[in-house]
Amino acid sequence: MKFNKVLKNLSTYEAGKPIELVVREYGINPKEVVKLASNENPYGTSPKVVTKIKSLVKNMYLYPDDSMFELKEALASKFELNSKNVIIGSGSDQILEFAIHAKCKKGSKVLMAKTTFAMYEIYAKQVDAQIVKTKSSQHNLKEFSKLYKKHGADIIFLCIPNNPLGECLDKDEVYEFLKTIDKNTLVVVDGAYQEYASFKDEKKKICPKELINTFPNAIYLGTFSKAYALGGMRVGYGFAQEEIISTFYKIRAPFNITTLSLAAAIEALKDEEFVQACIEKNFIEMKKYEEYCQNRGFEFIPSYTNFITILLKNFISKEVSQKLLEKGMIIRDLTGYGLNAIRVTIGTEEQNIKLFTLLDEVLEELK
Ligand SMILES: *Cc1c(COP(=O)(O)O)cnc(C)c1O
Repeated sequence: MKFNKVLKNLSTYEAGKPIELVVREYGINPKEVVKLASNENPYGTSPKVVTKIKSLVKNMYLYPDDSMFELKEALASKFELNSKNVIIGSGSDQILEFAIHAKCKKGSKVLMAKTTFAMYEIYAKQVDAQIVKTKSSQHNLKEFSKLYKKHGADIIFLCIPNNPLGECLDKDEVYEFLKTIDKNTLVVVDGAYQEYASFKDEKKKICPKELINTFPNAIYLGTFSKAYALGGMRVGYGFAQEEIISTFYKIRAPFNITTLSLAAAIEALKDEEFVQACIEKNFIEMKKYEEYCQNRGFEFIPSYTNFITILLKNFISKEVSQKLLEKGMIIRDLTGYGLNAIRVTIGTEEQNIKLFTLLDEVLEELK
């Protein structure tokens, strides 16, 4: 069968391997498998959210509230915006897709960092847009500016902090950059890990309200999948001026968020204490990774997220990841991004101790 030819050279997004796969392929007891591959909150979903979800499961014959009134109000109130400035997606991923479809067609230009969230490129390629990337792996706004002057752009993606590397631009430099961008260029500020970054360093904190009021061509994206511990519910959100939001609404299919997901997200927003406690533990545990790297002579990228990228010297990251997988430890190999590095989600204390032990074993075996 003939398909749209843009799909020929398009590779599918490689998600973190699920625990079930490791159980099936390597015969490991599911209780022994640890997944530190998709930057989920390792402390699990807040108990209050779980209770809420359980109380609702009886009523699944009805379609969800397509206006998403309550969740939009809750988000608008938390971020001091109007609900007209809010759109909800099946993960913020879906809003990335809306952005591409709203702005791009064949030959449109999309500007991004060399090593960043893979879906930017995948969605852009689906519409045959032209991808322009910086030479540097990490975000370098001087290079962004140069490329923007040379090629222009229909969309610019800024991942703040960046996945899969963990670095984070300062708010001030982002603003300086945005001042130079044409009003017709949509700038997507992907804040999937903003809760972590702003906890670690105030200079990294981007206030969505200030952002979209200062730069009406910007959209801010957030997600419930990471700090809010709801990866399984698929809820993300976008904040922008009404003109952008109402345009995205033309692309959205009805009922794109399930009843349970909406309720879970609303409940999760109420349990801010839980989220803050998880973020605090994240950075206590991250120190242990930094110490581990220093002791083993590995470089790492200082991280403003809930994962850490470790550059492996004298070992091949693909082999290290495979050996860890066979021992029931799922992490991310970054070979596909052109790096000899691994990305590890910061787990619970127990999970991290296991990672260090298994990684030492693997390094010994591969020596
Ligand atoms: C996880 C992630 C997302 C989206 O996650 P959803 O689960 O689709 O909300 C978006 N951007 C980055 C950089 C991410 O790491």
